[in-house]
Amino acid sequence: MKAIAVERGSSRPTLLDVSEPDPDAGEALLRTLRVGIDGTDHEVVRGNHGGYPVGDDYQILGHEAVAAVEDPNGTGLESGQLVVPTVRRPSTETESNEYFERGEPDMAPDGAYVERGIVGAHGYMSEFFVSPPEFLVPVPDSYAEHGFLVEPISNSEKAFEHAFAARSAFEWTPESALVLGNGPLGLLTLAMLETDSSPFERNYCLGRRDRPDPSIDIIERLGSTYVDSRETPVDGVAEAFEPMDFVYEATGYAKHAFQTVDALAPNGVGALLGIPNDWAFEVDGGRLHRELVLENKALFGSVNSNVGQYEAARDRLAELPDWFLDAFVTGVYAPDEAESAFEASDDAIKTVIEFDTP
Ligand code: NDP
Repeated sequence: MKAIAVERGSSRPTLLDVSEPDPDAGEALLRTLRVGIDGTDHEVVRGNHGGYPVGDDYQILGHEAVAAVEDPNGTGLESGQLVVPTVRRPSTETESNEYFERGEPDMAPDGAYVERGIVGAHGYMSEFFVSPPEFLVPVPDSYAEHGFLVEPISNSEKAFEHAFAARSAFEWTPESALVLGNGPLGLLTLAMLETDSSPFERNYCLGRRDRPDPSIDIIERLGSTYVDSRETPVDGVAEAFEPMDFVYEATGYAKHAFQTVDALAPNGVGALLGIPNDWAFEVDGGRLHRELVLENKALFGSVNSNVGQYEAARDRLAELPDWFLDAFVTGVYAPDEAESAFEASDDAIKTVIEFDTP
């Protein structure tokens, strides 16, 4: 079968011909429909992040997928049912997997898990893959086209849940939110903040692009305000616009983690999702520490998501407007066009590989 992988020593995606997986007892065989590409995939290809599955010289890419059940193989799933697979699986290196047992794989520490398509396990960019049913979230038949977005949306559902939990000990009525980053994760999160079920009334999104730019068009069509970090750095946003009740960082630009403290309103909360490389720089730690304490601000990191957050993401996807999804998905590619799908350009926002249709 066709699989898109990165081979050891290479830094480009390659189309391979590999054998079709054979499901073990307790695993279903899934036929892949679409797999999205995000910043993490680019990092895996560049070799900055992740690790090869034990014993293999290549890693099949992809962690944002939607698939159809090809063979339920006694798992109780229905043939033809559409599903979205989760990313984390227990590591075989550790004896107990308490985090997986209690349905919190996203909170497991490094070493207790592998991540399909990212760290130590093959991903979903192949015509078929296998999985136990507990790692598959059923989605409606109408999700063949955009169901692959359930995974990235679930990462933000987790961040929202933790943000509200961090502010749940008092009456918190947030109105203003700032998303740092106009890449795919930032734009998707901004669209979530603009849905009818979101409590946020004024949303901002920070980038560093000149107009005309498709991501700025999306920001403004959503009804949000574009903030150019070259004119208004993150620590100047509170003064130039307004102090933010919620900041969601999706740039991976390490200074933003600290500047977020200044962008927050008193009692506000900042979620950090970006994954920067090492970068040493100076900050006024005393001032930031004092600001966090005296203004009751909170800052936390968030990665991955659990099945409940995938289910919330499945509902949230139905709320996103069609025009947004059309503008957001800028390219649908066949498996043998993988290199083009991975090409970065200012016009590309979210690209996807289509292996099959239902
Ligand atoms: P991208 O790298 O595609 O997007 C990052 C965006 O931030 C780009 O549009 C970039 O602008 C913008 N940006 C970077 N630095 C600045 C700056 N100084 N000022 C203004 N804008 C800036 O990544 P994704 O959207 O896919 O993901 C965002 C981050 O989240 C990445 O670090 C990724 O690894 C991480 N991630 C984390 C997850 C989690 O669960 N924690 C899940 C998925 C992703 P430009 O394009 O103009 O350079």
